[in-house]
Amino acid sequence: MPKILIPTALRQFAGKQDSVEVTGGTVGELLQELASRHPDLKRQLFSEEGKLRSFVNVYVNDEDIRYLDKDATAVAAGDTISIVPSIAGGSAAVAVALDKEEILRYSRHLIMPEVGMEGQLKLKQAKVALIGTGGLGAPLGLYLAAAGVGRIGLVDFDVVDFTNLQRQVIHGTKDVGRKKLDSAADRMADINPHIQIDRHEAALTSENALQILKDYDIVIDGTDNFPTRYLVNDACVLLGKPNVYGSIFRFEGQATVFAYEGGPCYRCLYPEPPPPGLVPSCAEGGVLGILPGTIGLIQATEAVKLILGVGEPLVGRLVLYDALAMRFRELKLRRNPECSVCGDNPTITELIDYQEFCGVPHASEAAPAPMGDIDPVEVKAMMDAGTPFVLLDVREPHEFQICRIPGAKLIPLGELPKRVNELNSADLIVAQCKMGGRSAKAVDLLKQAGFPKVRNMTGGILAWSDKVDPRVPKY
Ligand code: ZN
Repeated sequence: MPKILIPTALRQFAGKQDSVEVTGGTVGELLQELASRHPDLKRQLFSEEGKLRSFVNVYVNDEDIRYLDKDATAVAAGDTISIVPSIAGGSAAVAVALDKEEILRYSRHLIMPEVGMEGQLKLKQAKVALIGTGGLGAPLGLYLAAAGVGRIGLVDFDVVDFTNLQRQVIHGTKDVGRKKLDSAADRMADINPHIQIDRHEAALTSENALQILKDYDIVIDGTDNFPTRYLVNDACVLLGKPNVYGSIFRFEGQATVFAYEGGPCYRCLYPEPPPPGLVPSCAEGGVLGILPGTIGLIQATEAVKLILGVGEPLVGRLVLYDALAMRFRELKLRRNPECSVCGDNPTITELIDYQEFCGVPHASEAAPAPMGDIDPVEVKAMMDAGTPFVLLDVREPHEFQICRIPGAKLIPLGELPKRVNELNSADLIVAQCKMGGRSAKAVDLLKQAGFPKVRNMTGGILAWSDKVDPRVPKY
């Protein structure tokens, strides 16, 4: 009788035997016979449609019969048939299987024809990089772990803060002060101990991005700043990996899939970043806590669809979500043939300096404080010494309601040009906002309006709370 050699990775499905003797005249018949004797092995070797899976090669004696018709390939009594699964990174791809606990866990997936055993194994073998474990990263991490995405790489360097808990639901109150990476990984491992979680404790930079991302099939952008968005985009285009994009602000969000199968990239949509400070961050502008849940889960859905190869991917379409109106809109996006990174003649062929590209000063350049800046501690000293000055708060009235520095005069930045007459150019004016960004603009504006003595309180009211008066709540 011909003999079939069973590779190590598959022996668990064939009663732990290393070889099986079977009867049959052709390779096809032998394999069918083997499969009918070992139904678990059948699931490994054949697809639902009964086709031999693409990662399984069959040899008769030493001959590769991959391209021959297996039903017509005759075998004789002394022949040895070898089943050789493809090996990747030291582990056999075919060794991926679900154990009993996983079958139970994923049963609601397994009974859907769009997922099934084949799809669940695809999820198990998928490698997804998740940049950021904040507002978007939180729902993404939770659901991708629960869905059984086999390997998830988390990239973050931040620490959990009280202000995160309003939306970053992967972290708990007990995690405040912990590394987000550890907090998120622990929660995900608790949801699903069957997955591998890689922790990349780093800010993604031009130096490390390609190295980190190259090992993953799909990249999901859950970041909140322009330099990293352009960096992730360019890295994905250069590596040829899809970039599942989402962004949030206040009550509005956007989502799409960039750089996938000839579709547009982020630079096709936005060739240049806005000037620094023009678009406020969530820390400055705020965000509805639930919003990143909605957008993050659109990203998670798209990632899972890409892995399964089902449905219509969100490529070349930008979904706009307005939570206040509860309305979704969709805009068509096209790849720009002139795009500097994914265009026909790209000028960006390696990663660049994204801080510089986005006009963000480097930490080393930002370090020496300009003459107009003043530290909150100095402001407090001036108050205590009775030095006359006007503390000008340029935040919005609803922020003023949350907290204020005693004696501050409120003129929101947007109203400053028409209310400048409420200020006296002879006075020393110290402008202050939440973090120091808007007040810096107020200082420029007042200087242009002819006010000679204006200074910007660095770090805003948050720094005041840290350095001067911890009773002032942070938000
Ligand atoms: Zn492009």
